[in-house]
Amino acid sequence: MDYDIIIVGAGPAGASTALHLAQTAPELAPRTLILEKAHHPRPKLCGGGMLQDGEFILQRLGMDVSEVPHVEVKEAHFRFEGRGFFIARQPVSFRVFSRDLLDSWLAETARQRGVQLLEDTRVLKVVPADGGMAVETNKGTCTARAVVGADGALSVVRRAVAGTRSGHTARLLEFYVPPEHTSAEQQDRGIFDYKVIGQGIQGYVWDFPMLSGGRLARNRGIFDLRMYHTPQQDLRPILSQAMAQDGLKMEAYTLHSHPIRWFDPADSFAAPHILLVGDAAGVDPSYGEGISFALGYGELAAHELKAAFAHNEFSFDGYKEHILKSRMGVVLKRRRRLAAMLYGIRSSNIQRLIWWRLNFLLKWYVETFLIDWAK
Ligand SMILES: Cc1cc2nc3c(=O)[nH]c(=O)nc-3n(C[C@H](O)[C@H](O)[C@H](O)COP(=O)(O)OP(=O)(O)OC[C@H]3O[C@@H](n4cnc5c(N)ncnc54)[C@H](O)[C@@H]3O)c2cc1C
Repeated sequence: MDYDIIIVGAGPAGASTALHLAQTAPELAPRTLILEKAHHPRPKLCGGGMLQDGEFILQRLGMDVSEVPHVEVKEAHFRFEGRGFFIARQPVSFRVFSRDLLDSWLAETARQRGVQLLEDTRVLKVVPADGGMAVETNKGTCTARAVVGADGALSVVRRAVAGTRSGHTARLLEFYVPPEHTSAEQQDRGIFDYKVIGQGIQGYVWDFPMLSGGRLARNRGIFDLRMYHTPQQDLRPILSQAMAQDGLKMEAYTLHSHPIRWFDPADSFAAPHILLVGDAAGVDPSYGEGISFALGYGELAAHELKAAFAHNEFSFDGYKEHILKSRMGVVLKRRRRLAAMLYGIRSSNIQRLIWWRLNFLLKWYVETFLIDWAK
């Protein structure tokens, strides 16, 4: 075998797997290779909001995320037709990063800690080889005892596990409002507006602050989970209408789209010699939060890999159970149930009852049961 471990993808999930390997199984790090199709710093479509759970994980790796330029969001507002609740945590509710900077910092730190990173190398296929897997790339084939699929929502590695590329994917549209169109007001607020549920969307529109060339800008977009097979709405006019209410002409901006693969406990997360992490495995269905969970999967995968090499046993039979029983897995299951409940209610009257009258209960549930899983 050319390597002990090949990690496909150098986003948060792949970098986290490598960083945790370097920490918990340093003997494996020099024999681990990350293959990345792009070149850091590479663009990644994302709101860039990372909750404190991501920070907790990075702190345990001895990394200080404040090294990376970001905007601090003091208050996260959740609302339906103007009313709901907000969460204000100390010192911040969440931080918003440009993903190119965050991801290159993560990948570079993994490289500094002894893991090899080969960029501009696209993985085409992963197939069984004697005692491991062969990873076919646009530059040739290499082999490893174990492969980690950290290649995002459209994972190629996932095909070798589940026979399918995606499934369970949410649709997202996003655009940036440049600094010159951004007012200085409410720059420390992030807004999740669920009014679009009334228009058949299983999700919300967001409005986050962000940094663009060191200046404050806004990141706007729409998340549609697609958990229920209702008629598929065209997201553009719905987002455009929501933006018009804020005085923005969406036609003036460039729209981008990318899916998120969401967590389902019934899914497959591993196969002999293969583990899936991050979007390739499935992240939060309720808000589409993926960065902290990608980091969390990396920690679980590194422990799984360490045990596999210690026992020379690569079935990864127990990985799914370890995910489901972990604090992260428990929270993912709760978030899935919340998403199923919230996005399953089509009646605007019942949504109003939840957001206007029972908002204190929702706030309590979110603060008590859905965050701080990585503390
Ligand atoms: C529009 C949008 C907004 C979002 N906003 C937020 C947010 O505000 N907060 C939040 O927490 N989450 C957000 N998410 C989700 C978050 O972006 C993902 O969950 C997260 O990036 C998952 O990390 P990952 O490492 O699993 O995958 P990715 O970040 O997608 O990284 C995968 C890596 O693999 C590489 N790769 C892919 N295919 C191959 C291949 N065949 N060969 C080699 N390399 C490959 C890619 O280039 C990439 O570097 C958003 C997602 C979208 C689409």
